[in-house]
Amino acid sequence: MQTRRGDEPRTLPSEPALRVILRRLREIMAEPGDGQSRLDKIVRQISGLMVAEVCSIYLKRQDGSLELFATEGLKKEAVHNTRMKRGEGLVGRCAEIAVPINEPDAQLHPAFSYRPETGEEIYHSMLAVPILRGGVVLGVLAVQNRTRREYSDEDVEVLLTTAMVVAEHIVSGAVAGVNAAAEISRSLAGVAHGEPISEGIALGHVVLHEPRVVVTKLLAEDVATELKRLESAVHRLRASLDEMLSAEALAQAGDHRDVLEAYRMFANDRGWMRRMEAAVREGLTAEAAVERVQNATRTRMLRQNDPYWRERLRDLDDLSDRLLRILAGRTTAAREGLELPADTILVARTMGPAELLDYDREKLRGLVIEEGSGQSHVAIVARALGLAAVGQARGIVELVSTGDPIIVDAERGDIHVRPSTDIVTAYSDKVRFRARRQRRYQALRELPTVTKDGARIHLHINAGLLVDLPHLHESGAEGIGLFRTELQFMISSTFPRRDKQTETYRQILDGASGKPVVFRSLDIGGDKILPYIRHPKEENPALGWRAVRISLDRPGLFRTQIQALIRAAGGRELSIMVPMVSTVSEIEAVKALIAREVDHLAKRGVPRPERLRLGAMVEVPSLLFELDALMPQVDFVSVGSNDLMQFLFAADRSNAQVGHRYDPLSVSALRALKQVVRAGARHGVPVTLCGEMAGRTLDAMALIGLGYRTISMAPASIGPVKSMILSLDAAKVASVVDELLETKSGSIRSYLQDFAKAEGVELA
Ligand code: PEP
Ligand code: MG
Repeated sequence: MQTRRGDEPRTLPSEPALRVILRRLREIMAEPGDGQSRLDKIVRQISGLMVAEVCSIYLKRQDGSLELFATEGLKKEAVHNTRMKRGEGLVGRCAEIAVPINEPDAQLHPAFSYRPETGEEIYHSMLAVPILRGGVVLGVLAVQNRTRREYSDEDVEVLLTTAMVVAEHIVSGAVAGVNAAAEISRSLAGVAHGEPISEGIALGHVVLHEPRVVVTKLLAEDVATELKRLESAVHRLRASLDEMLSAEALAQAGDHRDVLEAYRMFANDRGWMRRMEAAVREGLTAEAAVERVQNATRTRMLRQNDPYWRERLRDLDDLSDRLLRILAGRTTAAREGLELPADTILVARTMGPAELLDYDREKLRGLVIEEGSGQSHVAIVARALGLAAVGQARGIVELVSTGDPIIVDAERGDIHVRPSTDIVTAYSDKVRFRARRQRRYQALRELPTVTKDGARIHLHINAGLLVDLPHLHESGAEGIGLFRTELQFMISSTFPRRDKQTETYRQILDGASGKPVVFRSLDIGGDKILPYIRHPKEENPALGWRAVRISLDRPGLFRTQIQALIRAAGGRELSIMVPMVSTVSEIEAVKALIAREVDHLAKRGVPRPERLRLGAMVEVPSLLFELDALMPQVDFVSVGSNDLMQFLFAADRSNAQVGHRYDPLSVSALRALKQVVRAGARHGVPVTLCGEMAGRTLDAMALIGLGYRTISMAPASIGPVKSMILSLDAAKVASVVDELLETKSGSIRSYLQDFAKAEGVELA
């Protein structure tokens, strides 16, 4: 290979040249010698092969400065003497922004920092690339030339590839004086922000839901094999994206659909594939090729200031991560059966409720997701599991690695990654404070739930799994106001047979020890998809084939569940509640179906329930205008405020962009809720509310003001809500709410807050 010096015209490194570089690097790694001598050889080789007068390696020290560790071309005495402070000079800047810097005249750049001891004043052009490992900058690799020139994209790729080899070398611990592990851990310290979706504070260790693959083998043994591996992995990636976008899964995708479409576009991009294949032909393994192309494309994209491209960069990162996982044969942490730490904090870009339930609940403490709103079902499951959870934590996946210490503050929405000891101490105090508060709530457990003026309020819990049962007794709740039966179906990989269902429901009834339990019939569809049930492609899954609609269209499934419930009751009282009822005729149809099953089983000797209570959920607005016809058909109604609000305001509950736009404490929503209480009173039918608002103290106060006397909520909310009730005057809040509903428009939240403050109502 020809090398040229000085100002001679230079050619781009051709493909074979890149192969030569990789072969040389491989030889250097195999030759005897210590870490420093290998770095010296690398800079010498790269300088020669890239026709650069200077090639230098700077590595990060504990204090964040960059020390010149090896150079070809700069003065030797500068090695281990020249140190750039954090962010200083172009080298420091490259380390800070973690993308290549390509400057035809570095000395004219405002960030240029002149170091006389290096003798670099004669060099003008500079190309610096970060030495990255798992997204963390370990140092900078730079080349310089006398001539003023912009380095080509190929030059950038050569240098990035070399930087990957250097990173591998450093992480192996071979370079004396560089503690790469410490560097990695220190540079990850930081705070990210999101929105609390399940209240609490958790200290623990990160488990990446979709573990990132760290590429350790860079150099290919056999190019043909690697090309085949790459091709088959890309093929599988495309197939998996097609599957995700297929009819069955679209409903689950929800607002991620656009993202998936963008992924599919990327995955089918010929240029992407060509670049990866070229990298393999140069001698990289398939994994290293994916990473190299990811880094190079990232550089090109970051040159654009357009936010659109920055967003696409996230897509590319995610897609490359997926491809690496396929190459490494990995799926999600739960599916891989990884041993979870006892204080696991799951971190994910996005997660469905079923995926969360895949994990060993005993070991989960918290959850952080880049998407997801408080009303989404994954948030509901997180609350049911008592996890501290934060959603909308943009960029968190790139910030953490499995095993990192992390604190999830789901009171404020802060996430502390690799926190310092003072932060850990501060949070340990906070956790102790919360524990004290929890003990105070527990002390309230045996007290009757009565307002200051003597109104008796009944607090129930929402549940859906056997693990929820202990919460019923620990919280002091009077019963289970909503048992989401679909959660059992979601954690099963096949449709649970009737006997299995019977057994589960029996365990719930036995475990409740006589406290009432309201079983809600299967509420699937929307964002709750069962992988083993075919679901048609739907444009608007929330408005689609869901809940009672499926039950009536597929009576076989429904009848099995009803039979299981009747058998489990074994003659005891049984309450069944029907979700997503939109017309009275639907509840009539369900009623007839249940009556038939009771008769059918009675003929086979299964005892009839001592009392069978049938309830309708009021969560579709149409029902608000048919309440007088509905009430005589049912034994109780329960307002599903999560869905009711989404439909009233036409704002998708799982889309954080619109999910928070409308306040349930608005006069429009509260008037609707009031109508239900009034209709119940007119017909002597009990009315409850089991949406998430029941568990928020201010909202619960408003509900009592509207006349609700039974509400059902996540177990962790029972204490705070009870404490609020004990400090509340029900008649006073009723008259304030009535007046506000008559005189105001829009949100009345601030008035309610003022009332609570003035009256000393405890809102936790
Ligand atoms: C609701 O919609 O308010 C409700 C309780 O049901 P889910 O959240 O399960 O849809
Ligand atoms: Mg609902």
